[in-house]
Amino acid sequence: MEELREKGGISVATEHIFPVIKKWLYSEKEIFLREIVSNACDAITKLKRLEALGKYDGNGEAYRVDVSYNKEAKTLTVSDNGIGMNSEEVKKYICNIALSGALEFIQKYEEEKNDSGIIGHFGLGFYSAFMVSSTVDVITKSIDGSGTVKLVCTENGEYTLESAECERSRHGTDIVMHINSEGEEYLEGYKLKEVMRKYCAFMPIEIYLTDECEEIKENDDKLPEPINDTSPLWQKNASDCSDEEYKDFYNKVFNDFKEPLFQIHINADYPLNFKGILYFPRIQSEYESLEGQVKLYYNQVFVADNIKEVIPEYLLMLRGVLDCPELPLNVSRSYLQNSGYVSKISAHIAKKTADKLCGIFNTERERFEGFWRDIKIFCEYGSLKDHKFFDRIKNIILFEKTDGKLLTADEYIENAKDKYEGKIYYATDKVTQAQYISLFESEGIEVVLLDKVIDTQFITLIEQEKNVKFLRIDADVADALKNNNSDSTVDENIVALFREASKNSEMKVSFESLKDASVPAILNITEESRRMTEMMKMYGMPMDSFKEETSLVVNTSSELIKKLGSTNDEKAKLAAAEQIYTLALLSQRQLTPEEMKNFISTSLNIIEKTL
Ligand code: ADP
Repeated sequence: MEELREKGGISVATEHIFPVIKKWLYSEKEIFLREIVSNACDAITKLKRLEALGKYDGNGEAYRVDVSYNKEAKTLTVSDNGIGMNSEEVKKYICNIALSGALEFIQKYEEEKNDSGIIGHFGLGFYSAFMVSSTVDVITKSIDGSGTVKLVCTENGEYTLESAECERSRHGTDIVMHINSEGEEYLEGYKLKEVMRKYCAFMPIEIYLTDECEEIKENDDKLPEPINDTSPLWQKNASDCSDEEYKDFYNKVFNDFKEPLFQIHINADYPLNFKGILYFPRIQSEYESLEGQVKLYYNQVFVADNIKEVIPEYLLMLRGVLDCPELPLNVSRSYLQNSGYVSKISAHIAKKTADKLCGIFNTERERFEGFWRDIKIFCEYGSLKDHKFFDRIKNIILFEKTDGKLLTADEYIENAKDKYEGKIYYATDKVTQAQYISLFESEGIEVVLLDKVIDTQFITLIEQEKNVKFLRIDADVADALKNNNSDSTVDENIVALFREASKNSEMKVSFESLKDASVPAILNITEESRRMTEMMKMYGMPMDSFKEETSLVVNTSSELIKKLGSTNDEKAKLAAAEQIYTLALLSQRQLTPEEMKNFISTSLNIIEKTL
């Protein structure tokens, strides 16, 4: 064989590539390891394909990638027993950036300089090694029978290429990185493990990590274990995966030993062609962060976490893995946002999620109710963000009643038929609104609890969809609470008395005979004006010119009210009216300091008189 000895400079705009790699990508230099190790896996995958086609006989040789580090020699080596390269291929693929993925990457990166960046810096390839190396040696032997060649390439882009028969006898490639001062941490086992666990955990070929400086212990009969799982669960068919496997996979990937609620295994065929498993995590408390973690992979190579350009924002509350081999990854985020392929992926994931939820609801209602509280916020948020998603799940949304039972809007509407048709009564605070709640419950009116900020936004979706009106229990006096012959005749003296007691000369006062005679009066605020106040508060709008439409409903069946009408002691009447009004107010909101002061002193006066 002819002896080879060549010198040269990496062709095409070398002055471009190295500064880019060194400066722009500095913050993510660890991805060099992903690039070099995935090249090694690719080289083996190519060989396995040839073998499968009967064009190569591997004689049962085990394929593997070895990552070894030597702190003394300051080298980090990635070796594979893959397809290898002959000298022509080295020149073509490595020495000529134009033919490597890196050039394309750099060009796109330059165009997108001001953009939010390129996701995962994918496709940077061999040259990323120069983020941490001063010189990189490529020692490679092709399966085509040609001899071993060695390329020594410096960070300035100069190289020598020569025959190196003695350095490698079997096919495959060693990439020896001579680590520079910026890359010293990559000579530490723990760091390498950490980076490889992140990027290489599911690469398709077994990868082993060794410390070249550590002496091989004799009698150590423990077989070294690969750092990766070459056939991750998402690659299997859902029907072949057991619940146990799903749980183990979740525990391992997310380091979370709480059991997930359930999972969705997606296996989308052509043309979408992506796979993944999404888990609904168990939320332990309301205050727990709702941010999930969806890991994106490209043919089992980790790209990045939580790419909101690919997955709808609300689905990022979940945890899971997605493997999208069709995704163009060395493009900018803004490109992905506008890509039709990506929006189809999002839509598909959202549909599968909704289908799964409906499936459990329809076949395992009890189980669904068991975890409803954990997924409620997700369903509501998803519905508000994505109308199509809402459309799919609108019939399985549950409401929790004040007695803890759960029911759908349709079920509520069905139960309310004939009695309070078209209305869904709700409470926002079980404690403050206890009096109203007991009034409603004693008449058999169902009250649902909507105590989260998102609830009030969410109910408008249901209102439009189901043609019902949500009314807070202090919004109006439900007919069912009134006596059949409820007399609403206005007693002007009482009206004047309460206006004085409330220090509001324009207050609306009305009269009803309530079935529950123990309550002298209740305050109502119309639903519209209360929602308006909430909205204004939420957006920080000035409230000066806006007044809630409040009215006092005086219960004519109450003994207290009857007495109020018949007493002549004007002072005692006013004191009693003030107390009745303040008690009604207390069921609605907190008192102001001034109101509280008055309430306490009037109460003490009354006590004094009763002694
Ligand atoms: P990309 O992987 O994006 O094509 P690289 O710069 O990483 O760009 O690599 C360029 C080419 O060099 C690869 O496409 C492959 O043909 C070849 N190559 C790189 N590493 C290896 C290896 N370990 N074994 C065989 N060929 C390799």
